[in-house]
Amino acid sequence: MLDQAQRILKDVFGYDAFRGDQSAIVEQVAEGGDALVLMPTGGGKSLCYQVPALLRDGLAVIVSPLIALMDDQVATLDELGVAAVALNSTLDASAQRDIAFRIRRGEIKMLYLAPERLVQPRMLDFLRDLNIALFAIDEAHCVSQWGHDFRPEYLQLGQLAELFPSVPRVALTATADRRTREEIVQRLQLSNAKRFLSSFDRPNIFYRILPKDQPRKQLLAFLGQRKGDAGIVYCLSRRKVEEVAAFLSEQGFPALPYHAGLSNELRAHNQRRFLNEEGLIMVATIAFGMGIDKPNVRFVAHMDLPKSLEAYYQETGRAGRDGLPADAWMVYGLQDVIFLKQMLANSEGDDRHKRVEQHKLDAMLALCEETRCRRQALLAYFDEDMPQPCGHCDNCIDGVQSWDATEPARQALSTIYRSGQRYGVGHLVDILLGRDNEKIRAAGHQHLAVFGIGKAMNEADWRTLFRQLVARGLADVDLEGFGGLRLTDSCRPLLRGEVTLALRRDLKPQAAKASASAASQLVRGEERELWEALRTLRRKLAEEHSVPPYVIFPDATLLEMLRSQPRDLSEMAQVSGVGARKLERYGQAFLEVLQGGGNAERASAPTEANDLRHELVSLARAGMTPMQISTQLQCSERNVYALLAEAIAAQQLTLDQALDLPEELLEEIQEAFLDGEGELPPVAAIAELFQGRVPEAALHCVRAALQAEFEV
Ligand code: ADP
Ligand code: ZN
Repeated sequence: MLDQAQRILKDVFGYDAFRGDQSAIVEQVAEGGDALVLMPTGGGKSLCYQVPALLRDGLAVIVSPLIALMDDQVATLDELGVAAVALNSTLDASAQRDIAFRIRRGEIKMLYLAPERLVQPRMLDFLRDLNIALFAIDEAHCVSQWGHDFRPEYLQLGQLAELFPSVPRVALTATADRRTREEIVQRLQLSNAKRFLSSFDRPNIFYRILPKDQPRKQLLAFLGQRKGDAGIVYCLSRRKVEEVAAFLSEQGFPALPYHAGLSNELRAHNQRRFLNEEGLIMVATIAFGMGIDKPNVRFVAHMDLPKSLEAYYQETGRAGRDGLPADAWMVYGLQDVIFLKQMLANSEGDDRHKRVEQHKLDAMLALCEETRCRRQALLAYFDEDMPQPCGHCDNCIDGVQSWDATEPARQALSTIYRSGQRYGVGHLVDILLGRDNEKIRAAGHQHLAVFGIGKAMNEADWRTLFRQLVARGLADVDLEGFGGLRLTDSCRPLLRGEVTLALRRDLKPQAAKASASAASQLVRGEERELWEALRTLRRKLAEEHSVPPYVIFPDATLLEMLRSQPRDLSEMAQVSGVGARKLERYGQAFLEVLQGGGNAERASAPTEANDLRHELVSLARAGMTPMQISTQLQCSERNVYALLAEAIAAQQLTLDQALDLPEELLEEIQEAFLDGEGELPPVAAIAELFQGRVPEAALHCVRAALQAEFEV
C-alpha cells in the first residue's frame, strides 16, 4: 500500500517523500479507517485525502466551506492531470447535469462540495447510488459553535456516519485547541477515528515584535528588504487600511486595500489580483483571511495588535504556507492596549465572557513583552512544549536585555496615584520630568512630591515603562474616561517593596533593523535575473491557463530548479513538485529558460533595459512627466524613477528634464542631502522629511544629479 502511495506521490504530485504524519494518515484512510487530522496551515493537509482518493476505487467527496478554495484546488488538480470538479451555485443547471453524468460514468475522481450542497436529500440520494472512495471534511472546526468560523450546515455532516457506514471519513483542521477537537469528534461522529496531532510550530516563520515608534517608517524599513514579495499588512480600522494602502502605493510598493466597507465587487477584484499577481501587498482588516490559500505570502505585518494569541497565530499563519522562509512582523504600543481594552469594555456579552477575552488579551500582551523565545511562548500557550529556544525569532537572534525597573516603576505608580488616577501617559510623564506647563499648573501638579523625580530617564523610556506596566496588569486604563491610568490590586506588592520588577529593554530601532530575517535572502543577488526569468515564464503560462501562478509551480519548485539547474527532462523530473503531467506540459519550457533560451533571454535583458531607457530619455526630453511616461511605457512609476535616476547619473538627462518639482521644494531636498559632511546620505536617510510630498523614488533622481555634479 505504502509503495503505491509513494509512487502516486512522485508520479502525480512530483514529491519525493511524505512529510510528518502524512504517510500514516494516508495509510489509515486508504485502508478504510477514519481519521482526525490536526495540522498547522501549510502542513500539507490536502495530500492526506488526495493520495488515498487516488488509491481507492470510486469518487472522493471533499467538503469545503469556501468556493474560492475549491476552485483553487480543482485548478491545481487539473494541472496535475487529476479529474476533479467543484459543484457550486455558480454553475447553471445544464453544467450541473453534465457533471452528474460524468460522475455516473466514473470519469471524475474528486468532487468538491459546499456542506449545504452535500446534505441536500437529492445529493445524498445521488451519492448513495455511487461507489464512494472517501469523505474528506476540510476546515472541520467550522462545526464548532464556539469558534468564529461556525457553519450551521457542518452540524448536519454527522449523518454521513450512518448513511455511509463503510466509507472512510477524514476530518481536517488547522485549529489546535482541545475543546474544538472534542467537538469535532462528537459532532461528526468520529469516535473511532485515529487522531493525528502534529506540532503547531511553523518553523519557517520568523517572528518579530517591535515597540511602535513611527509605525509607517518602521513598515517601510521592513518592506525595503522585501521588494517584490507578496504580503499582508493588517490594520484595525478601515480608515487606516485605506491610508496605509495609499501610503505604500505612493512609496512605490504596489498595495491594495481590503475591508468590509468596500463593495463586494471591489473586494473580490482585489482578492483576485492578490492571488493572481505577484508581489502585491494586501492591506486589510481581519475581514481578509479565511480562504486565503496563497502559498507564497512572504510576510504578514501587523500595524495593530490582534486581540488574542489565537488570532495572532492564525493571521501570521497565512505567511509561508509553501514552507519557504517567511516573516511575521508586528509593531505595538500603549495606544493599541488602550484601544483593545476599550473595545472589550464596550463589547456585548456577560462578565464571564469578558473575563475570558481579557485573559486572551493579556496573553497577547505577554507575548509582546516576552523576554524568552517567542516561539516557545507561543507554543506553550497552545499546550505544546518546545524544549529549546528556537533560534529563529527576534528574541533568540537579537537577545533580550532586561533591567531592574523596580524603582522607576514605583515612581511611575506613585505618580498615577498622587495625581488622582485619572491622567493619561503624556501628563504623567510631564510630572515625572518636572515640566512646568499650563496643564501642570492648572492642576497644581508642580507641588506634588513626585514632580521632577524622574529626570534620570527620558520621555521615551518613561512611555515604554508605562506601556509595560499596563501590559503586565500593574496599571490599568480608565475606560469610561479618557484613557487615564489607574492602579490595580496587583501593583500593591511592588509598591510595598515586597517584590522587584524586571522588564525587557526596548531595542534601539537601528539595532532592531540591522538583523534582516532569512526571507530576504531567499534569492541571492546573482540568482535574481534567472529567478525573474523563471517567474516570467510561470506568469505567462498562468495567464494562458487562467490559473494563479503558484498553480503552475510553487515557489519552492522554481527555487529548486534555480539551485539544481536540471539539464534535461529526466533531471527536471527529479525536481520536487514536478509530476509527470507537469513535466510533460512545462518541463521543456522551463529547461529552455534555465539553459539556452535562458541565456539568450538573460543576454537580451540588458539590451531590453537599454531600449527602455533610451525611449524613456526621449520621452522625458520631450517634456513628459514621470507619471505620463509610466503610462506610456507600461512600466511602474517606481521603475520610471529608477531609470530616470540612471539616465541622470549617465548624464543623459538633466534633473529639470526628469522632474517637475517646485523650485523651493527641490532646493529643500538638495539641502537635506548636502546637510551633513562627506558622503551624500542614502535616500532612506532623508526620505522621512519628504514623506507625502515627494515620492521616495524621485529623491533618487535628485541624489543622482548631485552625485553627477560632484564627480565632475
Ligand atoms: P494545508 O492545507 O495544510 O495548509 P497544503 O495541503 O496546501 O497545506 O500544502 C502546503 C504546501 O506544501 C503545498 O504547496 C503542497 O504542495 C506542499 N506539500 C504538501 N505535502 C508535501 C510533501 N510531502 N512534499 C513536498 N511538498 C508538499
Ligand atoms: Zn526563538
